[in-house]
Amino acid sequence: APCIVFIDEIDTIGKSRDSGRFGGNDEREQTLNQLLAEMDGFDPTKGIILLAATNRPEVLDKALLRPGRFDRRIIIDRPNLAGRLATLQVHTRNIKLAEDVNLEKIAQATAGCVGADLANLVNEAALRAVRKGRKAVNQEDLLVSFELVIAGTEKKGSVLTEFEKKLVAYHEVGHAMVAYKQKNTEPVQKITIVPHTQGALGYTLLMPEEDKTELRTRDELMAKIAVSMGGRAAEEVVMNTMTNGASQDIQEATGVARNMVAMFGMSDQFGMMALASRRSQYLDGGYSMTCAQETYAAADRETIKILRQCHEEAKQILRENRELLDKIAAYLLKKETITGQEMMAIIEGRDPETVDNYGASKSSQPAFRPSVPETIEAPA
Ligand code: ZN
Repeated sequence: APCIVFIDEIDTIGKSRDSGRFGGNDEREQTLNQLLAEMDGFDPTKGIILLAATNRPEVLDKALLRPGRFDRRIIIDRPNLAGRLATLQVHTRNIKLAEDVNLEKIAQATAGCVGADLANLVNEAALRAVRKGRKAVNQEDLLVSFELVIAGTEKKGSVLTEFEKKLVAYHEVGHAMVAYKQKNTEPVQKITIVPHTQGALGYTLLMPEEDKTELRTRDELMAKIAVSMGGRAAEEVVMNTMTNGASQDIQEATGVARNMVAMFGMSDQFGMMALASRRSQYLDGGYSMTCAQETYAAADRETIKILRQCHEEAKQILRENRELLDKIAAYLLKKETITGQEMMAIIEGRDPETVDNYGASKSSQPAFRPSVPETIEAPA
């Protein structure tokens, strides 16, 4: 003393002792008892601070949380703008940065990222700079790495037919168009139809909702579902077909709708009744249903009702804005990656080529190979 003692992953030894129905775990319980006894023995005047961290505060033994033991909590949430900027500054401390680097802009673009994502981003940017034979990391390295962290690397040389490209373009613009119509603001940061290793054949990067709390209204949740539905809706409205490319969107939309019915009390049939209980607040956020079989089935029907309504709304929006949809999709097919500024320019009838394109990837060669087989060169 004086000192700070830090125990990481405290839940490994601090699990509640009455959860084990089959005799518990003697070794672990003894460790916990010993820890509790030691903590009581600290002299408060000596200046010893004991800190512990966990993702699962709900499983901790109640005795650990009593006054005089771990009695104060600091919840580490996703960092806000200032937090992300500070995190980036820490991680770039030992890295040579070029003069054009503006960490503030990177912090703005990375809303929703946690510290580990930012550390990863900086690391990838440094690797990219080395690969390109540069001595310092520049702004483009950081921007490209951000996409790499969220969507994986570009699959250069993917072969897509013209029809597939068109499908992907309409799918992605469908998301963006529904997002735009719901809020009437610049909807997206970037839309791309360049295949990435994690993000299927293309992806739409929505504008970050900066420093928004967890509080969501019913309308916001419905809007979120409708945006997820936008991709499939565009496939149906424009191409008159359906693809498996929408599977991730469907998963997400169903997750939100199910939460609305089971957890948020937002269905007509069940109202304020909780049909499920949350399992882990800070990890996966999953829950288990705690209702009768019949209620469960009825909850599914309510979920379907919400999804149908949002799907119809998305289709309606796209039908009403078919002309814009075509224009943006055509521009996307030509450019392969467009930014929100360019999309806004098309919507407002300006020339998209003239906008100030912050964050656009400046790729000199097209990422697609031609889909005509004889023009594809054989591998070396
Ligand atoms: Zn999609």
